[in-house]
Amino acid sequence: MALLLKGKEVSDVLSAYVSRDVFELGKKGVVPGLAVVRVGESPDDLAYERSIVKKCELLKIKAYLYPLPNDVKEERLLTLIENLNLNGAIHGILMLRPLPSHLNEAVICESLSPLKDVDGITSLSMAGVYAGRRIGFPPCTARACIEILRHYGIRTAGKNAVVVGRSLVIGRPLAMMLMDGDATVTLCHSKTACLQEIVKQADIVAVALGKKGIIGKECLREGQTVIDVGINVDDDGKISGDVDFDAAGDIVAAITPSPGGVGAVTTALIARHVTDAALEIDGGRHAAWI
Ligand code: NAP
Repeated sequence: MALLLKGKEVSDVLSAYVSRDVFELGKKGVVPGLAVVRVGESPDDLAYERSIVKKCELLKIKAYLYPLPNDVKEERLLTLIENLNLNGAIHGILMLRPLPSHLNEAVICESLSPLKDVDGITSLSMAGVYAGRRIGFPPCTARACIEILRHYGIRTAGKNAVVVGRSLVIGRPLAMMLMDGDATVTLCHSKTACLQEIVKQADIVAVALGKKGIIGKECLREGQTVIDVGINVDDDGKISGDVDFDAAGDIVAAITPSPGGVGAVTTALIARHVTDAALEIDGGRHAAWI
């Protein structure tokens, strides 16, 4: 049976760092604050928001919720973000996406202050990831995959890594971060020919495509490490990943479960990025607004 790469173990370690930083910030009178901006009431967004609020409560980060109607005008959203950028109590801004189609997502993403962009959606944060420099914050889910590998001592240098899914939030930044770790990376998508063979050749496989169990035993071999980012909810509310977990567990060397894998680490990293932002923004000086 494959080694289970448990998100909770990684999340606990990251959370311990967050608690230490919250304590240090508290000594300076700073309470780290996260603004969560949600447009509409999609069940996915609501579930994600609940898990973030719970994590923030646990770690003594103050979460400020900004729910907006589905038909919100772009101007109102931009004004809200502008105010959050200037609000000294807010150190991180998380905007739940995708946004409704009447909103220009690119313009709205760019309106976030890069200092508070804790989920890496501005061009500056992306440039940091693509240039391999620590500017801004990387997207939390992509970083979560890297943190899991690091926690379990799975080396990336010299390995063949295959990432399935090329979204801007997960696949692309993750490919860059794996390359930064000296892996040789292949990035696959829906038009990739011979996907099964490509995945089978990988030492490390990261799957983020959003289709239940699509990576099955025909794609896998002994010795592989599999990071399953997928979260697919069926009609009964049961969650499963993009990898056929039962089949994979008997073949590969190590695998993340879904649920119980990447998701828990993602939320811990949001908290981590908020305290990092607070340390950067308020670092060393007593914040006047307390
Ligand atoms: P997305 O924007 O829909 O992108 C999906 C990607 O998968 C696209 O690049 C698409 O290719 C590719 N793809 C789709 N079908 C494919 C196939 N049959 N073979 C190969 N590639 C295929 O999705 P996303 O936002 O990246 O999310 C991916 C998954 O991660 C979802 O299940 C989502 O719920 C989950 N997720 C998890 C977390 C977490 O914390 N664990 C956070 C966010 C999202 P094209 O580009 O060619 O269309």
